[in-house]
Amino acid sequence: MAYRPDIVPASPAPPPERVDVVVIGAGMGGLTAATVLAKAGLCVCVLEMDARPGGYLAGFRRKEFIFDSAIHWLNLCGPGGTVRRILDFVGPGAPETPQLRRIRRYRGDSFDYLLTNQPDELRDELMADHPEQAAGVRDFFAAARMLGDAYADLARRMRSPETMSLVERTRAGMGMAKIGIAFGRYAGSSTEAGLDKRFKTPVLKKIFCSEERLVSCLTPVGWAYHGDYQQPPKGGSRMLPRFLAESCERFGGRVVYRARVDKVLVSARKVAGVEALVGTRQQRHTIACDYVLASSDLETLYEKMLPKGAIDESLLGKIREADVYESAVTISIGLDVPAEQLGFGEELVMLTRDDVSRAEHNCTDPAKSAISILAPSARDKTLAPAGKGTLTFLTTANIAYGERWKTGPNDARGPEYAEFKQGYADVLIDRVAAALSPELRAHIDLVDVATPITHRRYTGNRDGSIMGGRPTRANMRNKIAHYKTPVENLLLSGHWAEYGGGVPAAVRAGSNAAMLVLQSARPAAFEIFRDILDFKREPEDVDPALFQPLVALAPKKATGACPGSGRRWSPSCAGAAGSRPGRSNR
Ligand SMILES: Cc1cc2nc3c(=O)[nH]c(=O)nc-3n(C[C@H](O)[C@H](O)[C@H](O)COP(=O)(O)OP(=O)(O)OC[C@H]3O[C@@H](n4cnc5c(N)ncnc54)[C@H](O)[C@@H]3O)c2cc1C
Repeated sequence: MAYRPDIVPASPAPPPERVDVVVIGAGMGGLTAATVLAKAGLCVCVLEMDARPGGYLAGFRRKEFIFDSAIHWLNLCGPGGTVRRILDFVGPGAPETPQLRRIRRYRGDSFDYLLTNQPDELRDELMADHPEQAAGVRDFFAAARMLGDAYADLARRMRSPETMSLVERTRAGMGMAKIGIAFGRYAGSSTEAGLDKRFKTPVLKKIFCSEERLVSCLTPVGWAYHGDYQQPPKGGSRMLPRFLAESCERFGGRVVYRARVDKVLVSARKVAGVEALVGTRQQRHTIACDYVLASSDLETLYEKMLPKGAIDESLLGKIREADVYESAVTISIGLDVPAEQLGFGEELVMLTRDDVSRAEHNCTDPAKSAISILAPSARDKTLAPAGKGTLTFLTTANIAYGERWKTGPNDARGPEYAEFKQGYADVLIDRVAAALSPELRAHIDLVDVATPITHRRYTGNRDGSIMGGRPTRANMRNKIAHYKTPVENLLLSGHWAEYGGGVPAAVRAGSNAAMLVLQSARPAAFEIFRDILDFKREPEDVDPALFQPLVALAPKKATGACPGSGRRWSPSCAGAAGSRPGRSNR
């Protein structure tokens, strides 16, 4: 897959030699943390191995088409959502994420139903089609609504217990118990038993034939009751990380691209800095710092980036054994006609096969896998030139498939790999054409295929996992998701710090990692940000001078210090485009 940078970072300057905080990775998690900390006046440097910000949200451009490779839809980015709250706190100008009305089309051999942001329409349609199952349908939708309420309640609990006082933790624990009961009702039940209890008709059960858990059958409907589905901003998902990266630099932080951290330095069990290979020449730089926030892959951090012995063997073992989300295949298609002309709309279509088992729908085999089909250009006209369109197909996929996708040693990609992934894409395209759009093949201008190998290569996530650790009992018992690491002041700040991944989890992780730094480095800013996360204060009510008091009190010329750190200001800490310490340009 040929990812092409479409913004060339204006950062030829070497990274700083010393900062308060180094953030590894400019995905949504790392950039959230970095931006909040830079806004609080800390001297922050983000090191990103790719040439652009975004991680999974970076997207790419091919010919005149823009593609997202890792988004079905967004949640909690709309009005009142917790992601939107953080974006609003960062500052004005955050990209809008329009609400979706048509959400998900369930399309199998024997059914075709649409879930909208009025889920009762689907409930009523199902009851009309299957009057003998009316009670079961009603019960299913009532359960989904209750689960949706529990999700909404959970979403408002932004703070990790690691940022809380004992009293706060006790209170939060009681609130969580209520939510736990709601989830517990469905989390334990097998999908078959849960559906059998409500539906006697095979067709009704088939609608959910690809979902691995009962909770996953109920969740989309529950979210729909809360109208919590947004599409990426105009211009694609990359606009979100781009906004954060620009904001971080506006607050005086640095984002250095093509900078791969390969060592985290530790002294007396406390973090001391990082070493990174920077630029096209891969020059080695050492950056000293007080905190390192890692939003990169957890296993790589613990096994390869830290000195031997920094993490004890039993924790390493648990992480190796952790149950993580699988990867995906993403097929990006440029069309010579608008996607609408071929029958696609703003909704995601979930294409399944009636004759395939639940497990087989998630087995990576392209002939059997469930396919999520999106028409991003139907949602956003800026992604394709006038008169053209884009489609994206996604399937769950395992990195071990086809003997590791026919790569060579160390995942070397040769002609066999290219041929294998093209063959994989062809099967999916034929299935979509047969089920939904007979004219599809005739209108394909280009096809780009990202496999689990691609997802791993571009973000470093273990086996190309799309979202990190699953919320399983074993993972929770083993504390796979966590913020504080065994190395003092080394914190996790991306989706590996949370269970259940996705953009909301990454933003939550970045926010909580920032909280843990503010708690000791900027207590006044900690209290303000705590109130934002606890919904006790609105983002627009925060006086910037209070969030970053030292800069307001001490003009940079007079102190010559790295913003708020009390340390001598090093010119290398200034932003790439000549931004200066502090945020006098705000
Ligand atoms: C196919 C697919 C579909 C998805 N669909 C959705 C969806 O519909 N909705 C949703 O909310 N989420 C979805 N997700 C998940 C979501 O994209 C991620 O959970 C989220 O973006 C993770 O953000 P992050 O910052 O934690 O990690 P990442 O995006 O992985 O960012 C980590 C960053 O760290 C950098 N990095 C790694 N190692 C180093 C190093 N050593 N030195 C320097 N930099 C390094 C990487 O280059 C990367 O930029 C999907 C993911 C995939 C793959």
